[in-house]
Amino acid sequence: MAAPSSLVDLPRTLVDRYDVPGPRYTSYPSVLHWQTPLDGAGYRDVLRAVARDDEPLALYVHLPFCASRCTYCGCNATVTQHPHVVNAYLDRLDHELSMIEAEMGNGRRVQQMHWGGGTPNFLSEPQLVRAFAMLATRFAFADGAELSIEADPRLVTRAQLRWLRGLGFTRLSYGVQDLDGDVQQAIGRIQPESVVRAACELAREEGFTALNLDVMYGLPRQSPASFTRTIDSVLALAPERVACFGYAHVPWQRPHQKRIDTRAMPSSATRLDLLRLAVERFTAAGYEWLGLDHFARPDDPLAVAARERRLHRNFMGYTTMPATHLLGVGVSAIGDLGGYYVQNSAKLGEWQRTLDAGALPIVRAHRLSVEDIARRAAIHHLMCNCELPFDLLPDGAAPVLAAYAQFVEDGLAERTSDGWRVTPLGRLFLRNLAMPLDAYLGRDAMRVPGDDATEDDEEAVAGLVAVTPRYSRTL
Ligand code: SF4
Repeated sequence: MAAPSSLVDLPRTLVDRYDVPGPRYTSYPSVLHWQTPLDGAGYRDVLRAVARDDEPLALYVHLPFCASRCTYCGCNATVTQHPHVVNAYLDRLDHELSMIEAEMGNGRRVQQMHWGGGTPNFLSEPQLVRAFAMLATRFAFADGAELSIEADPRLVTRAQLRWLRGLGFTRLSYGVQDLDGDVQQAIGRIQPESVVRAACELAREEGFTALNLDVMYGLPRQSPASFTRTIDSVLALAPERVACFGYAHVPWQRPHQKRIDTRAMPSSATRLDLLRLAVERFTAAGYEWLGLDHFARPDDPLAVAARERRLHRNFMGYTTMPATHLLGVGVSAIGDLGGYYVQNSAKLGEWQRTLDAGALPIVRAHRLSVEDIARRAAIHHLMCNCELPFDLLPDGAAPVLAAYAQFVEDGLAERTSDGWRVTPLGRLFLRNLAMPLDAYLGRDAMRVPGDDATEDDEEAVAGLVAVTPRYSRTL
């Protein structure tokens, strides 16, 4: 199938100019630039400071286990077939939560909780029960709290979904990525469309009214024709939300990605066409395009929040619920609380050993400066509302002004009376439009050894995945 006519004729110079590495800005500064020395004892001080206010928490729980390794995986995931490995992890998670409870007290209100991985529904039902119990005995879920979980459609069962609904989970996110058999072969994730359809039907039958499907562009063997078929199949499943992430090929961070045949990966121009296809087809079907890479039905709370300019961005992606403090627990988990970003060790063995030694397993942190907070507000406003008001410009904005003059010339942004508005074309390059606001770009980024894959583990954000933001191509 040829690309729809509206997908032709993007100037090659534009694609080349903006195909540069850049962060996804789920945090600012990006994790590569966190350099505040903070150990477990320092983190205890941060937790005690957080305990002095009464703001509700957002809670992220990382459950890193999977039955097998997908070669495109960008998550911190550990492959195991052994229940005792998961049980040992839950022992340490319990310990980590106890140490946090000791500083923050019992019964802190939680208004949002997300379980990511890995594959949270890889856990057996008793393991899931145990994980939930260790949280429910320490935190108080607020009325209307949003509980969400990532799940692998190949593993989901009716009993599992019924139990999750019974506990109050309302948002379910399935990893789909691509439904083409050739692409699935190329990424080591065989997941027939019939399996995904059955998992969606099961979710509906068990009362999940908020279903998210993750798809991915930029994968090997994807073409505009194959991706069109995948999108149309996803549309037939009628999810409330779709996240459409670009594949990040970072084999130096995720060595198993070396098994990806890079010769079969789409070119930058084709990657851009795939994203444009997704935008065209989802919006033509009535979904609203939110921020960088999300689509939602008009009546979904995320779409409503976007229209009302209440969309927020954090490590869990786009959200309707701004939380003053985000607490992350589990291996590689990231927190944003008390004016600090903090991250646990991404190496399962190190995370466990540190907890066994009685310390919180923090490996990196960043104390947000006044300037960081101002620049973060501008970047997140841009990423959520697709506009940059003059009054959010940081001090020393001359480089931003110069960059935006170029963006206007290239048709990516247009001047308004109080700033710039991102054009539909510019939406495709939203990360590029945020980069001039980033005071850390071009500075030496630190090495992030703990985020590398190791013998016992493997950012970020797939399931969203992608929890740890990192640099990847912007297209
Ligand atoms: S992509 Fe998802 S299911 Fe596959 S290995 Fe990574 S975390 Fe596990």
